[in-house]
Amino acid sequence: MMTKKTKIIATISDARCDVDFIQSLFDAGMNTARINTAHASLRGAAKVVENVRKVSDSIAVMIDTKGPEVRVTGMADAFKAGISVAQGDIISIRGTAEDLPSSREMVYMNHATICDDVPVGAKILIDDGELEIEVVEKADCTLVGRVNNAGVIKSNKSVNIPDVEIDLPTLTDRDREYIQWAIENDIDFIAHSFVRSAADVLAVQQLLDAAGSPIKIISKIENREGVNNIDEIIRATYGIMVARGDLGVEIPAEQIPQTQRYIVRKCIESKTPVIIATQMLHSMIHSPRPTRAEVSDIANAIYQRVDAIMLSGETASGDYPVESVRIMTKIAHEVENDTLNEDTDINTVLISNEVMSLIAHSAVQAAQSLPVRAIVIDTKSGRTALHMAAFRSSKPVYAVCYSRSVMRQLALSFGIQAVWVEPQPGKTNYLLRMLYSFERHKWLDKSDLVVMVAGSFGDQLGASFMEISTVENLQNKPRQGA
Ligand code: PEP
Repeated sequence: MMTKKTKIIATISDARCDVDFIQSLFDAGMNTARINTAHASLRGAAKVVENVRKVSDSIAVMIDTKGPEVRVTGMADAFKAGISVAQGDIISIRGTAEDLPSSREMVYMNHATICDDVPVGAKILIDDGELEIEVVEKADCTLVGRVNNAGVIKSNKSVNIPDVEIDLPTLTDRDREYIQWAIENDIDFIAHSFVRSAADVLAVQQLLDAAGSPIKIISKIENREGVNNIDEIIRATYGIMVARGDLGVEIPAEQIPQTQRYIVRKCIESKTPVIIATQMLHSMIHSPRPTRAEVSDIANAIYQRVDAIMLSGETASGDYPVESVRIMTKIAHEVENDTLNEDTDINTVLISNEVMSLIAHSAVQAAQSLPVRAIVIDTKSGRTALHMAAFRSSKPVYAVCYSRSVMRQLALSFGIQAVWVEPQPGKTNYLLRMLYSFERHKWLDKSDLVVMVAGSFGDQLGASFMEISTVENLQNKPRQGA
């Protein structure tokens, strides 16, 4: 069996989520379905999840929180079409806790203390950076801004103020409501928006812990504070998403490539799953073929050895959703099989004093040096699989899981093909038994050489040895406790 190792996340909207459509995305190579709660109602999200689960129990589900954010308020009646502004116009801006309507006389933003937080000289970017306003004066709780380019200020548009720390809450009431829903609906990942520090991650983790939920947190890095605090965020989180949409507004676009490389390298070193997101195949929202630049962008992410690449509008509302996933899969196959790709990066992964890291590293090296068909592991909490993924094996890693949620969560990790097996009382040696199943499903032949990684001292201590032999030899090994 030949499958790609880089995982694909496809954003799905409730406006198009029928079972046939999701099946086509899955067949094309989607591993994780993402629902962006900034654009979805709870009913809509439930519909997507229900249909994803009808397609396969191995597809993971990720929901993005909306996160704390500043927006322009709704427009007053006379300005329903928006406020047209020309370069050089002077406008007044205030914060409001009461959602006062905006007009040409006063543009309101939904953060009451904005005037205290934003200094003279700051640039206020509206609508993903379409319109730039420079603060030239502050007076009477009002920011006086000069418009730097012509445009229209419309209702509820996003506001970014690069390099200014705004005192926003970690979680909004809406986020809490969606997190509670995620807990009740056995969702696999929460991608928390605008994570600025470890405290933002811990606030979500506390809600999960209080409910005993196994959901894993992905921290979306989308502003300078998040980049500056990446080390503490990595320590607190399960995974990282380089959310290049907002990040490209908050920091100059020309700094995105170096910021991406910086974050990816830190994640790989620390064995943290990392996702590259946004505009990967943007032109395919309306065009059947990608631009050469998009193909190169995806290939570069894979050469950097990321765990997963993500599609947003391309699959949520684009004209060529299945083709977009298919193109990503093809690029992944090409790059992963490029011999220049082999062996890069794994030497930077931290081994520290961990037995499991050392065994994972050795198993990947052995699989590389010998004519090995696959690495076979079992993983109770997912920890062994995460260690294996961290060393970016060029051979597939078949992971036997005893929990469905662990199996689904591995849909985000590089090179891991996870299967679930139901533990049966009194039975052991699942790993050896699974070799028969892999053979039946044609993942392996009897004569294939495999590296098997397992533990002899219980779940807490994890992997403690590796064994290299043919499938047949391992199957015929005398068993204990069978
Ligand atoms: C992004 O900004 O790149 C991102 C992934 O977040 P969202 O899709 O919520 O804008």
